[in-house]
Amino acid sequence: MICVAIANQKGGVGKTTSAINLATALAATGLNVLLIDLDPQGNASTGLGIPNSQRLFSSYHVLLGEARIDDAVVHSQVPRLDVVPATVDLSGAELELVDYENRTHRLDHALRRTQGNWDIVLVDCPPSLGLLTINAMVASDSLFVPLQCEFFALEGLSQLLTTVERIRARFNPGLAILGVALTMYDRRNRLTDQVSADVRAVLGGVVFDTVIPRNVRLSEAPSHGLPALIYDHRCVGSQAYIALARELIARLPLGTQPGAAAA
Ligand code: ADP
Ligand code: MG
Repeated sequence: MICVAIANQKGGVGKTTSAINLATALAATGLNVLLIDLDPQGNASTGLGIPNSQRLFSSYHVLLGEARIDDAVVHSQVPRLDVVPATVDLSGAELELVDYENRTHRLDHALRRTQGNWDIVLVDCPPSLGLLTINAMVASDSLFVPLQCEFFALEGLSQLLTTVERIRARFNPGLAILGVALTMYDRRNRLTDQVSADVRAVLGGVVFDTVIPRNVRLSEAPSHGLPALIYDHRCVGSQAYIALARELIARLPLGTQPGAAAA
């Protein structure tokens, strides 16, 4: 079981959109996927159509040790894609966990105890570098970093990488950067091109070849409780996420070769 945290402390850069659509694309290749929603906003849960009535146990209960992952898992409408949903309780978890021993390893321990047979676990992180994101980084093999093509993109990234260094030094020496994906790419905007060239010059091969274009279908899909890949699998946004998932699979040490191509 490989665990990948989708992290960037900036909000609105495409973490949740990437989490939902990559999870769906990976499941479509035949992999068993678990998406853990670790953002109190619960956008990944909502975007996958998980109603509040099905969030009896959530990532909050998992972190607090009040439920096992296996108790909290909900099957999504997407075959082979399971979700540990989030609820607003999670916004209090950082404070509640302060007095707990192993507060940085709560998710890691929960994942070690699960009986589930997922090939890959994706963790959708909140827009901060607090205890929730730290739990995700401690539990993960690698990070997937969505980066919005805008002027301060690289500055935010250095802060993220500093945190990664700290996590490596103290808790998880094997934590790798799986890749950086450029999101909300707008061809008509010259600044976007400049930022993407700068990012590739600085980060090199860690940046995925595939860029995710700004595409209204990607932003519409969550209000229908569907991944864009199901809402409109032909739109350019969905096609980009399918291509990105292929690159992701190529970089992952997956034991079994996935079967059919994505949707
Ligand atoms: P984060 O999880 O990093 O806060 P989201 O994935 O929730 O970011 O994206 C922020 C907003 O932008 C959401 O309303 C989402 O639907 C929209 N969005 C994300 N990616 C794209 C895209 N490539 N094109 C258009 N809208 C997007
Ligand atoms: Mg989000």
